[in-house]
Amino acid sequence: MTKENNAQLNIKTLEHLNQHKNFPMVPRVVFGRGSFSSLGSILLPKRRNSDAPFIFLVDAFFEGSDLENRLPLLFNDQVIYVSAEEEPKTAQVDALVQKLKSDYTEEPSGIVGIGGGTLLDLAKAVALLMTNAGSSSLYQGWDLIQKQGLYHVGIPTISGTGAEVSRTAVLMGPEKKLGLNSDYTTYDQVVLDPDFLATVPKDQWFYTGMDCFIHCVESLEGTYLNAFSQSYGEKAYDLCKEVFLGDIDQKEAEEKLMMASWHGGMSIAYSQVGVAHAMSYGLSYVLGTKHGIGNCLVFQFLEEYYPEGVALFNQMMQKHQITLPKGVCANCTAEQLDTMATISLSMAPLWENALGADWTSKISKEKLIAIYKKI
Ligand code: NAD
Ligand code: ZN
Repeated sequence: MTKENNAQLNIKTLEHLNQHKNFPMVPRVVFGRGSFSSLGSILLPKRRNSDAPFIFLVDAFFEGSDLENRLPLLFNDQVIYVSAEEEPKTAQVDALVQKLKSDYTEEPSGIVGIGGGTLLDLAKAVALLMTNAGSSSLYQGWDLIQKQGLYHVGIPTISGTGAEVSRTAVLMGPEKKLGLNSDYTTYDQVVLDPDFLATVPKDQWFYTGMDCFIHCVESLEGTYLNAFSQSYGEKAYDLCKEVFLGDIDQKEAEEKLMMASWHGGMSIAYSQVGVAHAMSYGLSYVLGTKHGIGNCLVFQFLEEYYPEGVALFNQMMQKHQITLPKGVCANCTAEQLDTMATISLSMAPLWENALGADWTSKISKEKLIAIYKKI
């Protein structure tokens, strides 16, 4: 899919981003089955003293599971289980920060997030707000975080979002759904243990996995593409094809999807997502639709923009007998549809990446509403 794009790959594409981004990467990562057992020894040198705890923010799915006994707790460490039913909110981050500040006199040694994109983003945000004053909603945007957060460790238990590598923590706030995008957001340490993926329900595996596939398609088909993004994006795209269309066993698929998520995240770090994400954002804002399934709901109707990607997506759905809900927007009022389209069109960089500098002449509110109505 990307051969045609190769010709465009030159330094211009970076200039297109207005600047040469100096973006942070995760400095330390462990990969491998059973690697979660290394967590205790990883945290030990980061413990400042016995009064400075580690706080474990863990997806409530794991409450009462084996994992409880495997958490390397010491001294006054605390485990907080958090439901991933809803995507993380600024008020939730603020409440957690307030609780931790009142629970301890000593600043914690660090925050460990264990779960999917929801818990990974929540843990990043809590680590940042422990040192940056005021509500997390003040920092929704780009580079508003001024101080380094607490040391934070991310441990994904489902793969696809790339939240484990990204420099953002997406939060729903009182006024907007927007990430805390900053150089301090990126994890200090990530543990990639594919054993976690065994319990993920099939539909959720597919939706979150497709988030990764769609990251790749949008990055590789975008006008912001450059050799850096392409190298990660193509790898992740190929891994997704193996995982979702190939004939490989489950364990291999788990390992490959975990790496696809990582590479997909790296790809968009130096480019941008596109039409599906812009539209899914509008859907999520108005209906609360979660990121993974929201992207799938939109992407199925984007053959005009991503013909090859949508054809493969349909094959993947068929192979795994995934049926997407229908009539999701059937009862939306004209005002709701209008809001969805307005929110979506406010994501200028996504549209510019997808359609080029003259994107405003290529897309309209009416066109978006017509697509939303199909969902
Ligand atoms: P999620 O974290 O919302 O989890 C989805 C479901 O899977 C939940 O019910 C959860 O309990 C369950 N689950 C997770 N691990 C499991 C396991 N091992 N076994 C059984 N069940 C398990 O899902 P997600 O798709 O990973 O994350 C979505 C969130 O990620 C959204 O909030 C979105 O905004 C965010 N996101 C962030 C970035 C970023 O760069 N920061 C990128 C994309 C998406
Ligand atoms: Zn995404």
